Amino acid sequence: MIDPTCIHTWTPDADAYACSSCDATSAACVAHDGPTGSSLLICEGCIARERTVLDVIDLHLDQWDERDRNRGRSPAAFTLVPMAQAREDGEGGPEDIHAALLGWVARWTEHTGASGQGASDYLRGHIMWAAHNREASSWEEYRRSVRSIRAAARSLVGLAPERLADRCPHCRALVVRDRCDAEGRPHPDGLQDEPRCVGCGTVWPNVERFTLAVHERIETLPEDMPDTWVTLAEAKRFFPDVPAVSWRVWRFRGRLRAQDGYYRLGDVVALVNTRTTVSVSRPMSATV
Ligand SMILES: [Zn+2]
Ligand SMILES: [Zn+2]
Ligand SMILES: [Zn+2]
Repeated sequence: MIDPTCIHTWTPDADAYACSSCDATSAACVAHDGPTGSSLLICEGCIARERTVLDVIDLHLDQWDERDRNRGRSPAAFTLVPMAQAREDGEGGPEDIHAALLGWVARWTEHTGASGQGASDYLRGHIMWAAHNREASSWEEYRRSVRSIRAAARSLVGLAPERLADRCPHCRALVVRDRCDAEGRPHPDGLQDEPRCVGCGTVWPNVERFTLAVHERIETLPEDMPDTWVTLAEAKRFFPDVPAVSWRVWRFRGRLRAQDGYYRLGDVVALVNTRTTVSVSRPMSATV
């Protein structure tokens, strides 16, 4: 029996989620890994988040000023973020942001019928429809696309975050320092000190602490996680005693092969182990 007074405790079952105290069931949300709490396919929080992405794009377009067009080329504007790559050849202005949003309106109105609304108002009003008609709406593609439109709008107004060279030690996602908050409002004191992982959301108090966390992870990562993929620069930092010539020779002879620019850490460790007779600084177990 469904108990209307029950504060449901959702546990995953075959289809979606079931309450462990009563007979209530819930659909799985199409935008986050969890229950919606109802038969709807998207939860309140995720609808709000999707609408916020569009709000932020609108806000950045409002913040944009015709004078911004030349910001990337102005030597006096060195403290501002250069225009996005696409703007180098004069593309990627606010017109392109509008066009990208209109592209989605055109795709969705094929199914929902014409609309007299502005692009972002229309999209905001059709998130619920899109989540329940994922094939027609190209839901996953839409969500990726609208986020890159937001990123383009952000760099249009000089609010693109600064990317740090190292990735998150927990989830390997990009780590950035923000220039605006999640609602698109510029931080009054500009670039923030606290690095933030865009994947797991970890925030470090400053760049030094983040770097420390990366280095602490580097000490244990090779043994703990052989299936982690690392860049060559990261591999070199894991094994500072391996001379540059060894890396070159391994790659030249095909003993170390990259996939999309990344190397499997376990393979790197195995290779480094082959030279344990000359390198004694790290306690390596097996010799291959
Ligand atoms: Zn219940
Ligand atoms: Zn959700
Ligand atoms: Zn992370």
